[in-house]
Amino acid sequence: MENILDYTQDELKQWMELNGEKSFRAKQINDWIYKGIFNFDDMKNIPNETKAKLNNSFYIGVPEVTHRLDSKNNDTSKFLLKFKDGNIIECVVMKYDYGNSICISTQVGCRMGCSFCASTIGGLIRSLSSGEMLGEILRAQKEIGERISNIVLMGSGEPLDNYDNVVKFLKTVNFDNGLNIGQRHITLSTCGIVPKIYDLMKENLQITLAISLHAPNDYLRKKIMPIANKYTIDEIINACKDYIKTTKRRVTFEYSLVKDVNDSTENAEELASILKGMLCHVNIIPVNAVKENDYEKPSNHRIKNFSDVLTKFNIENTIRKEMGTDINAACGQLRRNYLNQSNEMRCKDGGDVI
Ligand code: SF4
Repeated sequence: MENILDYTQDELKQWMELNGEKSFRAKQINDWIYKGIFNFDDMKNIPNETKAKLNNSFYIGVPEVTHRLDSKNNDTSKFLLKFKDGNIIECVVMKYDYGNSICISTQVGCRMGCSFCASTIGGLIRSLSSGEMLGEILRAQKEIGERISNIVLMGSGEPLDNYDNVVKFLKTVNFDNGLNIGQRHITLSTCGIVPKIYDLMKENLQITLAISLHAPNDYLRKKIMPIANKYTIDEIINACKDYIKTTKRRVTFEYSLVKDVNDSTENAEELASILKGMLCHVNIIPVNAVKENDYEKPSNHRIKNFSDVLTKFNIENTIRKEMGTDINAACGQLRRNYLNQSNEMRCKDGGDVI
């Protein structure tokens, strides 16, 4: 059985023709799915014979909600979602004035090993298919009962470590007969896999590229991000400059601010010097504490000072508004807590602990 969400509408049309069905059925089926009908038998204008063929070949790979947490002020909802094979990922929906934004996962776990991130603690389990990423959005839309208009690929997983599926996903969400989310409303965040940044700029996409930089020099970056042993900041910055030239799009640099690790005035000055003259924006993210490491959030004074130094050197920046800290909105924390709890339960049962 295949996940029908892994098929583009054109691929589904071809499948219909090959299986003795009318190709227009592909659009009808997609219309139902995008309206939130996740069962072929409930698709009213599809003949029973076609439904039987669909049920024999496909499932609609929209994950189930295992857990939902809403922040007290209702601006953030976090979902733990379970796929058909039992794997769990998380996604977060944030409500802004300009619309609903979703942060999706691209892999189950992650192998990049960033020291401030809970998603990587158990390593990479597997990559998600394009249809599974689509399924996260369809499930979230159904849960909140509202349209999602912005996507951020910044949940668990490194998107460029799952390149082909992610690119297929980006092209599918843009499809006007599907979710119809414009590429300018999509941000892809990477820890900086340089050759893939060069590949991405050739895809003719208008998405925003965000680099998880988190340090102004290789020495410090190597301490918190193992990927820094493979690609230097210079190589990343050069790739970004080419990306800007090719796509004419501003690049975002994500900078998680950690107390006494990368939050000094000198760190801010060094960051300003490497980004000088670039069409870019720095997103300062005061770190959320993760139980498994000792990182702490800097004081408000230190956070503001970091931002002020960048501004002084004409580097556009914003301090990310905190959303959902009461519901573990930091990357991978909810899934981690869930896995820890289920492991504890299995321990108590005397069962297998991984
Ligand atoms: S920050 Fe992103 S790339 Fe780094 S370990 Fe976490 S999920 Fe992976």
